[in-house]
Amino acid sequence: MVDSKVIEELRDYLNQSKYAVVLTGAGISTESGIPDFRSKDGWWNKINPAEVASVNALENNYELFREFYKYRIKMLDGCKFNRGHRILADWEDKGLVKSVVTQNIDGFHKDAGSKRVYELHGSISAIRCYVCEKEHSVEDFVNDKRCEVCGGNLRPGVVLFGEGLPSDVWQEAYDEILKSDLLLVIGTSLNVSPVNSLPTVAKGKRVLINAEKTFMDDIFDLVINAGAGMVLESVDRGL
Ligand code: NAD
Repeated sequence: MVDSKVIEELRDYLNQSKYAVVLTGAGISTESGIPDFRSKDGWWNKINPAEVASVNALENNYELFREFYKYRIKMLDGCKFNRGHRILADWEDKGLVKSVVTQNIDGFHKDAGSKRVYELHGSISAIRCYVCEKEHSVEDFVNDKRCEVCGGNLRPGVVLFGEGLPSDVWQEAYDEILKSDLLLVIGTSLNVSPVNSLPTVAKGKRVLINAEKTFMDDIFDLVINAGAGMVLESVDRGL
């Protein structure tokens, strides 16, 4: 249980802010049934990321690469956004939140109705040819098709280990966070660079909602170690 005073404090921050921005990670989607990467049930305790989600795998071990992403796409099939995503979209509609910056590739923020979403690590459903970049459908990818233009391998539009972030999206997200007077960071271990530098850029209040402690807890004005959905719902109830 989270102390009601902490929930009230976060609600006050939100009500008082003029430019609140949200930064999310895999933890906001675990309630949807998508495992995160680094907590005890996360992906990287079972699989070595360098083997499957990397440029090296795409170029030198394509079958393994493709099977890993097919598995992740199929997992998304039976899942959808949860109350946490929905509340953030609702707060944007009400003008309480200006935008969402996310590390997630599942598309759930947009599905839930958030409009200003910066997907720093891309989207798993944006399939393209690795060689000529022609766009393809998710069906093409899961059915093991090759690019019909150049015969190249297909890949999801996610940022792989060994790749840089899309510079335009990064710049826009950076500017949003620079402008913010409240940064709400939700469900991320803050282990992934350069995204973990973003909270240090924020000049206003910083709040972290995460199931477990992170090595950056000290830079936040308020840290709530609890489930994102429950915390957002509790804050929302009293708005
Ligand atoms: P991470 O796995 O490193 O950290 C997730 C954090 O969320 C953990 O600290 C965990 O304690 C916390 N958490 C788990 N469930 C929670 C909940 N219900 N409420 C609050 N906190 C919760 O993930 P990250 O920091 O986002 O790492 C970044 C990488 O993970 C990115 O590259 C991203 O693309 C990738 N990723 C995305 C998805 C997705 O799109 N849903 C899923 C897995 C990984």
